[in-house]
Amino acid sequence: MIEVKNLKKAFGKYVVLKSINLDVEEGEVVCIIGPSGSGKSTFLRCMNRLEKINGGTVVINGYDITAKSTDINKARENVGMVFQHFNLFPHLSIRENITLAPVELEKLTEEEADKKAQELLELVGLEDKIEAYPDSLSGGQKQRVAIARALAMSPDIMLFDEPTSALDPEMVGDVLEVMQNLAKEGMTMVVVTHEMGFAREVADRVVFMEEGYVVEDGTPEQIFDNPQESRTKEFLDKVL
Ligand code: ADP
Ligand code: MG
Repeated sequence: MIEVKNLKKAFGKYVVLKSINLDVEEGEVVCIIGPSGSGKSTFLRCMNRLEKINGGTVVINGYDITAKSTDINKARENVGMVFQHFNLFPHLSIRENITLAPVELEKLTEEEADKKAQELLELVGLEDKIEAYPDSLSGGQKQRVAIARALAMSPDIMLFDEPTSALDPEMVGDVLEVMQNLAKEGMTMVVVTHEMGFAREVADRVVFMEEGYVVEDGTPEQIFDNPQESRTKEFLDKVL
């Protein structure tokens, strides 16, 4: 589903991603952990080509997004992204936030999109909020809407960038539960997170990144119980 080879990304002279290699199989849940500034967000953004890629190849669901000939918009339709700060449109209702992209991109008719919005809001436990506006929702509710909105395009892959980091602690569980259910349904997911409990329980693989490299990549048991690299150990000693 995802094949990243020797990915490089620099901002000016500053090389943020030095050489990233990662493969993700269909239905796999991969959690990316690592210190702040290690390049996790940049890496996720490269998978959607929200950042210009400076070297290497990234193949997403058969689309080589590093190739000039690739229709990047087509490739992006298959990839849903959820950010730390929700990025909902404040002037649109929850219904409109969810139906906008599939209708604009002619993936669904307005009727189909409405029906899908209702189903997705049920899935995230917010069916009663369909006519509400983002400002009237809590952070956790906004994030669940953001997940529903990403799912409205029926993506094959979901990318999450610290989806619970901006939430009050009591909101975190509901959002993680939605993500866990998505994982159970077989969604291919890459999740940047500081929620080590989630990573241990839900991830098939955990990737530890530092200074623009994947330092270690293994099952949750391997990474959390028996890390091989001293840098992984040092990081886990600080956060666990
Ligand atoms: P993480 O998500 O692991 O905290 P980021 O990918 O956000 O790390 O950032 C990695 C490094 O790249 C940081 O030093 C950050 O300051 C730098 N960086 C990120 N985005 C930009 C940008 N648009 N321009 C310049 N530097 C950036
Ligand atoms: Mg980040």
